[in-house]
Amino acid sequence: MFCYECSQSGTRVEAIGLCHHCSVGLCQEHGFIIADPITATALVNRTVVLKKKARLLLCGTCLAALQQQKIAS
Ligand SMILES: [Zn+2]
Ligand SMILES: [Zn+2]
Repeated sequence: MFCYECSQSGTRVEAIGLCHHCSVGLCQEHGFIIADPITATALVNRTVVLKKKARLLLCGTCLAALQQQKIAS
């Protein structure tokens, strides 16, 4: 599997993983690993953010799209 972003510009670079959101192949340069907060629902429907964060690999497009969602809310 090759990096999708690199293949768009005509180069073939081995992918290190897949975007969690759109599943395109990503190389080291085009993949972004972000910390994904894990939430749990406590009593009386309160959402609490837990101490340990998970890891999420995203492409630049999905990262930008998800960040815009965060800003809007
Ligand atoms: Zn790439
Ligand atoms: Zn993506």
